[in-house]
Amino acid sequence: MNLEDIKEVKKLLLKPQSIVIVPHKNPDGDAIGSTLALWHYLKNNGQEATIIAPNDYPRFLKWMPGGEQILNFEKENSQAKEKIVKATIIFTLDFNHLGRIGQMESYLEEANASIIMIDHHQAPSDYAKITYSDVSMSSTCEMIYNFMEFLGDDDKITPEIAVCLYTGIMTDTGSFKYSSTTSRTHKVVAALIEKGAENTKAHNLVYDTNTPSRLHLLGCALKNMVILKDYNTAYITLSQEELDAYEFQKGDTEGFVNYGLTLSGICFAVIFIENKEEGIIKISFRSEGEFSVNEFAQKHFNGGGHTNAAGGRSNVSLEETAKYFVSLLKDYKTQLNS
Ligand code: 5GP
Ligand code: MN
Repeated sequence: MNLEDIKEVKKLLLKPQSIVIVPHKNPDGDAIGSTLALWHYLKNNGQEATIIAPNDYPRFLKWMPGGEQILNFEKENSQAKEKIVKATIIFTLDFNHLGRIGQMESYLEEANASIIMIDHHQAPSDYAKITYSDVSMSSTCEMIYNFMEFLGDDDKITPEIAVCLYTGIMTDTGSFKYSSTTSRTHKVVAALIEKGAENTKAHNLVYDTNTPSRLHLLGCALKNMVILKDYNTAYITLSQEELDAYEFQKGDTEGFVNYGLTLSGICFAVIFIENKEEGIIKISFRSEGEFSVNEFAQKHFNGGGHTNAAGGRSNVSLEETAKYFVSLLKDYKTQLNS
């Protein structure tokens, strides 16, 4: 974020504004953590602010302070639309193009508000008045910490803000182990603990609140895993029937894709999850090292993300999607073996 942008944001926030904060569809820990942290900060500074999520978010994030205030665009549609129309500023957090917010896209395009984007995904599109994009950042939460520091307000980080930011950094870095984790990330996390983030509690609430059905679904996913040694690739499929059999709830499959990467030698892991209601296969891609799943997802599966973590979708059946995926790998054999 350059000096001009900081000055402009400061100027905007001197006046009372009607602010809407938007995370991406199927929000994860970073999306919910960053929107909640910014919401607390703006409210504490006398602004009127509302978080509008395109849809619901996972059970294991429902404990986060302020979460009960989040409007769900699918469920609280008329209230949410009214807020967007009246908004003077819209913050969009943790996504790089408006296609990532589903049905909300057209409403944001038509809004009169000044849009401020804060995000760390590759190839951001140019829809915002002010864009703070940095693909080297571990998480949008780390950027929100920077943002508050830019505004000279890091002393206004309360324990609620601190735990929201801590949780988003923790989930987006795989508990501080992905290559996006820098010494700066650790400094930010240390500051957040000093400001009152209860770190052990956050870990327990996110990772140690499994249900038996989720663990059984994980067992099913691991049983379904296909290992393609020639391509150092492992993929998992989960059909709607399997999800139903294990009483799938939103967020239950979070993290399943990473198991492929724990196999020695495997550098590309994928999960294909059938969603009958939306008529799509939701795909998560993960890699270790140079192989860019962002490029792979963009090129073949209408998606994107980061070099080592990306998402996408397919409109054909689960079987056809997996078959198509396998057929693509021969073109990447050298890359996947280097
Ligand atoms: P996940 O696989 O956990 O859904 O997503 C992995 C990463 O890729 C996240 O940072 C997520 O925001 C991003 N991502 C997921 N799906 C898409 C997509 O369809 N398009 C883009 N551009 N990014 C995505
Ligand atoms: Mn993120």
